[in-house]
Amino acid sequence: MINFAYARVSTTKAAVDAIASDRNAMWIAGGTNLVDLMKKGVMVPEKLVDINSLPLKEIKKDKNNLFVGALALNGEVADNDLVKTEHPLLSLALQAGASAQLRNMATVGGNMMQRTRCPYFYNTDMPCNKREPGTGCGALKGFNRMHAIFGTSEKCIAVHPSDMSIALVALDAIVHVTGPKGDRKIAFQDFHRLPGDLPQKDNTLDRGELIVAIEIPANQFKKNVHYLKVRDRTSFAFALVSVAVAMELTGNTIQNVRLAMGGVAHKPWRLTEAENFLKGKPATDAMFQEAAQLAMKNAKGYGHNNFKLKLAPNSIVEALKTATAKS
Ligand code: SF4
Repeated sequence: MINFAYARVSTTKAAVDAIASDRNAMWIAGGTNLVDLMKKGVMVPEKLVDINSLPLKEIKKDKNNLFVGALALNGEVADNDLVKTEHPLLSLALQAGASAQLRNMATVGGNMMQRTRCPYFYNTDMPCNKREPGTGCGALKGFNRMHAIFGTSEKCIAVHPSDMSIALVALDAIVHVTGPKGDRKIAFQDFHRLPGDLPQKDNTLDRGELIVAIEIPANQFKKNVHYLKVRDRTSFAFALVSVAVAMELTGNTIQNVRLAMGGVAHKPWRLTEAENFLKGKPATDAMFQEAAQLAMKNAKGYGHNNFKLKLAPNSIVEALKTATAKS
C-alpha cells in the first residue's frame, strides 16, 4: 500500500472542489472495496477525501417518491421501515449482499461504485484491460466461471458485483449527482455501462461528480417481490446469478412486472423483453418458462461460465414462482 494524504470535508461543495482540483484524489466513505483495492495496488490514489461527514444519510419520503441519501448505510437501508413497506425488493436485495459487518460499513453510493471482483483485475501481475487499458483480458481465455454472459466485449467480460443495484434498476430508480458543472439526474438503467472499448469506465459519471441520493418512484410492488441470489456460500459471496422480480398481480393475471439479473453482465441487466411478454399474461410456469427463454436471447458463455446459460433461465423461473406465491 502506498502512502497517501488524508483530508475530511463536511459539505458537498468542498467534496467536489477537493476532487476537481486534484486528479490523484479520491473520495472515501465506507471504504469496504477501496481499501482492499489500495492494499493490492490496484488503485493508488495519492489523497483520500473522507466524505463521511456530509449530510447525505437521510432516508425520506417526499410526495410519493422515496429518497435515500448516498451515505446511508446498506444495513440501515435494508432495515428501514419506509424501505421495507414501500420497496421491499430493495430491502431483500440489500440483505443478500456481503455480510452483516460489511453492510454496516458500506454506503449506498459506495455500493454502486464498487469495482468488479474479477480475479485478474485484483492481480497486478496479470493482464487486465479494466485495470490497465491495452494489456489484454486475462479472463477471456482464462478462468471465467464468475463472468458475464450478456453485453460483453473482446476487451472485458467482467460482471458488476452489486445486489442492491439489481433491485434499483428493476425499480426504475434515479441517481441524483452533483459536480463541477452542477446537479443532474441519471436513470439507474443508464448509470452503469457495458465494457465496449472502454472497460476501465464502469459508469457514466463525469470526473468529479458525486452521488448525493437515489430516488425511487412510487409503485405498486409491495407484495409479490423476490430477490433470488444463487451463490457458492449462503453469506459473503457474490452472485453467480441473481434475479430481482417485482410483480403486480390481479388474481392470477400479471398487471405489471419488473425483472433484472445480476452476475451476468457488466451492468445490472434489465429483462425488458421478458417483462413485456409477461404483462397481461397468467402467472403460470409455462409463461415463466417462455419469458426466461426470451431473456436468454443473445446470451453467450466463455467456457467455465457456460453453466450460467442454464442456471440463469432456471433462476428467472424460480424467482417468478416464488414472487407469485407470496401472499
Ligand atoms: Fe480485466 Fe475485465 Fe478481463 Fe477481468 S474480464 S481481466 S476485469 S478486462
